Amino acid sequence: MEDKREKLKSFFYKIKECQECELHEGRTRFVFGSGNAAAELMFVGEAPGKNEDLQGLPFVGRAGKILDDLLGSIGMNRKEVFIANVLKCRPPDNRDPKIDEINTCKEYLFEQINTIDPLVICTLGKYSTQLILDTSHGITGLRGKVFHRDGRTILPINHPAAVLYNPSRIEILQKDFLRIKDILGSGNKAEPAPVETHEDEENDSEKDNKDDDSRQLGLF
Ligand code: SF4
Repeated sequence: MEDKREKLKSFFYKIKECQECELHEGRTRFVFGSGNAAAELMFVGEAPGKNEDLQGLPFVGRAGKILDDLLGSIGMNRKEVFIANVLKCRPPDNRDPKIDEINTCKEYLFEQINTIDPLVICTLGKYSTQLILDTSHGITGLRGKVFHRDGRTILPINHPAAVLYNPSRIEILQKDFLRIKDILGSGNKAEPAPVETHEDEENDSEKDNKDDDSRQLGLF
């Protein structure tokens, strides 16, 4: 557990200034992902949106609230899972990710998955599903089906933001979260990691940067 957390931290510091694709030009904050470094359940979304870009955290705002509620509905919370995206920087105006951006950024996600080594990956929407399953099929035909890759269970489900445009989708998501609970099995959850604090004396600029980092790292 400690080893995984330290590995993720090192990886975060290694890639947080990434400029490998043009998306770095418009980002406010790099969004690494957050949660439990030893999580058995990992969620993979598409890319940071406006709020995620501003806060440097994944799934905040209204879609994040839906995800929190869905986790709560199966007796779980964010400290027990790890949440990441295919892209770590926000596409302008929340446009769809481009193939070359995904191909450039995907190794970061794969490294996170290798380190965390979750039993179950729940892909949220089209882009993460197609990447993790290495398929060009759409989410509609894949949603709710269970796949196995590299010893892990993959469950594609709709992106929680879909509920914002079509409220009736919540029922499908609730059903899929019950499926997640079944797959994980009762009492088969990762322990929450302790939150770390930084108490070194720093100048304001350094402290602001460290504060940003701490917020991203706080749940590892
Ligand atoms: S989206 Fe990924 S590859 Fe592009 S700049 Fe951000 S971290 Fe780097």
